[in-house]
Amino acid sequence: MSVEVRRSSSPEETERIAAALAMRLAPGTVLALDGDLGAGKTCFVRGLARGLGADPDAVSSPTFVIEHRHACDAGTLVHIDAYRIRSAEDLASIGWEDLLAAGDAVVAVEWPSRIAAALPDSRIEVRIRHLAEDVREIEIERVRPGERLAACRACGTALAPDGDARFCSARCRMADLGRWFRGDYAVGRPIEEDDLTDGPSGRGGAAR
Ligand code: ADP
Ligand code: MG
Repeated sequence: MSVEVRRSSSPEETERIAAALAMRLAPGTVLALDGDLGAGKTCFVRGLARGLGADPDAVSSPTFVIEHRHACDAGTLVHIDAYRIRSAEDLASIGWEDLLAAGDAVVAVEWPSRIAAALPDSRIEVRIRHLAEDVREIEIERVRPGERLAACRACGTALAPDGDARFCSARCRMADLGRWFRGDYAVGRPIEEDDLTDGPSGRGGAAR
């Protein structure tokens, strides 16, 4: 496990940090981008696009469509905003399992806490903290599967000791996710006004 902490003093610097990271990423990497509204998550994805050889200007908040795909020099950058994902069906509708199974795209997820149970064990966590006007602290952590779990978390079936899965099948992964959405697991984010309203009007259409 390795953690890198960087300080950025401008959106351009955040993009440069992300672009440098992107050049070291293998296809199939999932990045979980954490940070409050306006922290710079989308800005970071713009830098990823630049580093991967995609058009950075095409990157915008995917708020109302959940995901955007960008063609890169080598493969695809998939940009997901999980903020509005409310059910396993929402996640299935963007082909999440296939996306992970194919392993040919770099996947960047904003508001990853919404789909915490569905994130792969092996991923890169990027945490962006707003320190001052234009100053951000960016923590980049490579998370790898730690101790192998002996049994599927959903049904208890024994797992291969050298595998890195927590579930025996995609079905069990989705069953566990369903439990998560039913509220059996906590959401690691304070409740916002928008959570109490339905539809985009609650946020006044603000970009994230
Ligand atoms: P998020 O996706 O986290 O909601 P955005 O990337 O959409 O955030 O917006 C970040 C905002 O903060 C932009 O308006 C950007 O210009 C501004 N900003 C100021 N300083 C920085 C910085 N150092 N890094 C990233 N964004 C910054
Ligand atoms: Mg955003």
